[in-house]
Amino acid sequence: MIAALMPNYNRIDIAFEHGEGAYLFDSAGRRFLDFGAGIATSSLGHGHRALTAAIADQAKRVMHVSNLYRVPGAERLAQRYVAASFADSVFFCNSGAEANEGLVKAMRKTMADAGQPERTRVICFDGAFHGRTLAMIAATGNAKYLAGFGPVVDGFDHVPFNDLQAVRDAITPATAGILIEPVQGEGGIRPASLSFLRGLRAICDEFGILLGLDEVQCGMGRTGKLFAHEWAGIEPDVMSIAKGMAGGFPMGAVLAKEDVARALVPGSHGTTFGGNPLAAAAGNAVLDVVLAPGFLDQLDDTARYLWRGLNALTARHPAVFTQARGAGLILGLKCAVPNAEAQQAAMAEGLLTVAAGDNVLRLVPPLIIGQAECDEALALLDRAARRCTPSLAQVAAK
Ligand SMILES: *Cc1c(COP(=O)(O)O)cnc(C)c1O
Repeated sequence: MIAALMPNYNRIDIAFEHGEGAYLFDSAGRRFLDFGAGIATSSLGHGHRALTAAIADQAKRVMHVSNLYRVPGAERLAQRYVAASFADSVFFCNSGAEANEGLVKAMRKTMADAGQPERTRVICFDGAFHGRTLAMIAATGNAKYLAGFGPVVDGFDHVPFNDLQAVRDAITPATAGILIEPVQGEGGIRPASLSFLRGLRAICDEFGILLGLDEVQCGMGRTGKLFAHEWAGIEPDVMSIAKGMAGGFPMGAVLAKEDVARALVPGSHGTTFGGNPLAAAAGNAVLDVVLAPGFLDQLDDTARYLWRGLNALTARHPAVFTQARGAGLILGLKCAVPNAEAQQAAMAEGLLTVAAGDNVLRLVPPLIIGQAECDEALALLDRAARRCTPSLAQVAAK
């Protein structure tokens, strides 16, 4: 008999009862250091006072009114994003995939409005992940996610990551823009080089096409700047965010320059739930923390400390972890053993991590961690690595 909860996940047999900061506690009372953060989403950790208070207060007043009416909290949140980023205007939705759908629709409509309706295609990258809707599995391009779901939504072309010439060669008169994660998350924590990102901006300007960034995972402060592309000193035309932006409350957004935002006229795009008062309250509470003076500098310091520790770890355990990669607090350990084995070993030691593509163990802790949590995570990873290290007898037998 099938489980009532649809079995589209291989769930780990742990149920968490509550959380506090970077820690989760399961129903058996076990304590875990959470370096997965619900897949880079619980940006303020668990049970954050200001976030939970903002949600509770707003829930008591009014949760939802629809976008038929003004939502002051959403107006304020949008204004804050505009002030803090390249964007002139913001559309709120409910997830990363939905944000990317809006982003691609905005790209196509911008071109159509500019008298180039034939420009509909978007160049995406090998190893990308953009979500699970019919169009976004096509944008993702991973055969595993497409299998069995019928005709692949047309309009996405794939080229190798970090290869400018391949991008140039893929541009045709039907190209509307480029969509890229500045740091690929699901694909295995692969950062785009800063020169690649700058090159993409230049190519978009040269060909008159749009640069779209998917910062659903790497944005919202995770790299030590509010948005990852800031490290390259470039600005996109349009960008999607989601995961960390409301600290675990479901929320996504499309941030756009004016000429792109103008394409989404009334009636052209919408959402029932997006940017409702409750989500906006959560989003504002997260920004209160992330934009507080010194927060991102502190995060950057913490991330560099963790980075040094991870490199020492890989040097100590080359038979288990071959390389540390990533940026800020979106980090990965390339594994020499199956990443599932490393993940299980870490969990057995009390550390939660997330597997990623390319046999990588992903570390995406809450943004509020400090050196103490890093020290603990490094110690637990060290013990996990020892669990995974093949014994001399096993090596000799090979
Ligand atoms: C998670 C993710 C998505 C999809 O977000 P959902 O909220 O699961 O729809 C899209 N892009 C990137 C880069 C992601 O990490």
